[in-house]
Amino acid sequence: MPGATAPINSVLKEVFGYDSFRPLQREIISSVLSGKDVIAILPTGAGKSLCFQVPALAQDGLTLVISPLIALMKDQVDALNANGVAATYLNSTLSFEDAASRTAGLDNGQYKLLYAAPERIFAQGFIDSLQRWNVRTVAVDEAHCVSEWGHDFRPEYRQLSSLRQSLPNVSFVALTATATPRVKEDLEKQLRLQSPEVYIASFNRPNLNYTVIPKNKPVRQVFEFISERKDEAGIIYLQSRRGTEEMAAALTAEGIKAAAYHAGLPAEIRAETQDAFLRDEVPVICATVAFGMGIDKPNVRYVIHADLPKNIESYYQETGRAGRDGLPSDCVLLYSKGDLMRNLRFLDEMTDRSAADIARKQMNKMVDFAESFQCRRIDLLGYFGETWKEENCGGCDICLEPRETWDATLAAKKYLSCLYRIKEKSGFNLGANHAIEVLSGANTEKIRKWGHNELSTYGIGKDISRTEWREVSNQLIRMNYATQDTGQFQTVGITDEGMRFLKDKKTLTLMRHPQSKDESTAKIARAGAVECDEAFFEKLRELRKQIATERSLPPYVIFGDRTLRHIARSYPQNDAEFLNVPGVGNQKLQDLGAVFIKAVQDWLSENPKQEFAEEIRTPKPKPKMKSESGISETALASIQLFQDGKSIDEITTIRALKTSTVTGHIAQGIQYRKIQISPSVFYTEDVGKQIADAVAKHGNEKLGPLFAELGGKVPYETIRIYLAFAFPVEETP
Ligand code: ADP
Ligand code: MG
Ligand code: ZN
Repeated sequence: MPGATAPINSVLKEVFGYDSFRPLQREIISSVLSGKDVIAILPTGAGKSLCFQVPALAQDGLTLVISPLIALMKDQVDALNANGVAATYLNSTLSFEDAASRTAGLDNGQYKLLYAAPERIFAQGFIDSLQRWNVRTVAVDEAHCVSEWGHDFRPEYRQLSSLRQSLPNVSFVALTATATPRVKEDLEKQLRLQSPEVYIASFNRPNLNYTVIPKNKPVRQVFEFISERKDEAGIIYLQSRRGTEEMAAALTAEGIKAAAYHAGLPAEIRAETQDAFLRDEVPVICATVAFGMGIDKPNVRYVIHADLPKNIESYYQETGRAGRDGLPSDCVLLYSKGDLMRNLRFLDEMTDRSAADIARKQMNKMVDFAESFQCRRIDLLGYFGETWKEENCGGCDICLEPRETWDATLAAKKYLSCLYRIKEKSGFNLGANHAIEVLSGANTEKIRKWGHNELSTYGIGKDISRTEWREVSNQLIRMNYATQDTGQFQTVGITDEGMRFLKDKKTLTLMRHPQSKDESTAKIARAGAVECDEAFFEKLRELRKQIATERSLPPYVIFGDRTLRHIARSYPQNDAEFLNVPGVGNQKLQDLGAVFIKAVQDWLSENPKQEFAEEIRTPKPKPKMKSESGISETALASIQLFQDGKSIDEITTIRALKTSTVTGHIAQGIQYRKIQISPSVFYTEDVGKQIADAVAKHGNEKLGPLFAELGGKVPYETIRIYLAFAFPVEETP
């Protein structure tokens, strides 16, 4: 146990077994130690706990941690104890004797950290005790619970405002993963923080890989995904209670250990299920969004949304439960327009119109995300007001598998005329699926009933898969060539614009989802894992499970997956080597070193040692897909469209990209002389001269200074295009 004022680096290494701080941890810890009030807004898995645990060990006195969930409290204290930290908790689950002995320990100054639920604080005499126990820091974890604007308001948290007054000289640190400005304001006000230092981390989760897949047979798609990673823990979110039960039953029938979880189940069953999940006994939970709040399980390897989430914020929070331990994890969204329509219909029926309007707008943002062809991180982070600057994030389906474009003129005409013929024959519109059945020449009852097998468009679309037809349909709706009703039948009809398109000689280019060819979820890429001897890792998992069961602790309190994977790649055979493994501090070495070192030796006596390349900590962006000319594939797609006569605005719509992105692509085209065009299309001679003067002053490296020099009057896009003309790149043969 380090001394009263151990330097924070040695606490980090010796107690927690880590070599370096994560972003903002050091800054937050320094502020806390200097006695300031602090607000720390960091995404899930960023390591907020360490921000108060390290100071607690690096200063004298006691750190009081306010935590909303009793179950969580116990796990955190168990994890601290396993690292040899003197921590305890007080809550209503303790017997009278147990509580009394803990209180006695606190009186003796035996503990460095005390976890308590907010209601405990206001128990008779507790505040006096706190003063006696020499509380130096109060950490309010999950601090958004204080705000009605947060997603998990807890009235008890409100009473914390009076704690501040009772403990005027104690520093307060409020921690949360909820980033909205309203919540932040509320924190400051409700907790009466005194000119707090505010730290807000990027909400990017570099180890999460985002994928959107057209949903058709969700159970099969989920099963396929899981069968590639049977031993890993994951959560499948579904909208309805029945949905969770059906999914769990279907997976169980396929031999996967899965359980359902929703608010309609008895409390004991829910607690059991949650426990089994935490203890790695049931790896797969099929749940409504009732599941997950306060689940601190670090090794959730995937989160699948089998139904459309209601907004981006929920989607972010729910997917955020994957990969808290920093290892690569997958977030898969199965998307179908049908889900959207169902939700919209539900909103149409709501009596509170303004709430329905807000919900509809949020839902549309979610759909934009799902249908977008730009990096998933742009939309997700954009929601938090962050701009994603890298062109290729290396961790989403769009960046990992750039979309191809295809000439969809004929397909679009077939589809639109099919809509037209259906309406002409029957007098009303029908659903998108029906039109697709007609195009595919299906023999359904509906088709026979309406005589749609007599339509001229019957069976003329057999060359294209139904999934691709759905894509065509979605994109035509997006472009307003067709419109879909939100009513019960979600009928699709052709618009005036669509009619014009049918008559025009215009061409239409669409993007192709790579999965349209194959909606398989099995092969989702996973970048940046800690490579290790997988068979040995499995063996170590068993060992961990066995130790955890003996001690009735969740396995991750023994060691996290990352630690096990490091053991399974570095094969530590003595104490010094074992101490080098991330997540191994002095206490764990003492406690578990011998058992695990023996496991390594046993393994090596029967198996060869494998060699591994250097660890990649976070998924490294794959090298951008470059064509020979040095232009990215995605830029080439825009350039192609531009050459086909599309305007930047049109390309923006077709590709669902931001104007600035498309302009960047066109600029590349100009720069690499792929596009032959006159500058006068983009700016006047006079403006060109002004930019030239600014470049003479500030150089051509950065746009910002040029933009400022020009008094903000010339848009960034124009400057970018100018530079492309002025500084072309010569191709080297
Ligand atoms: P949060 O509360 O922000 O969601 P946690 O405090 O639960 O995150 O930490 C998530 C995981 O990251 C834990 O397994 C923790 O041990 C690990 N962790 C935290 N800080 C570091 C660090 N500096 N180096 C390595 N792992 C860390
Ligand atoms: Mg936390
Ligand atoms: Zn991306």
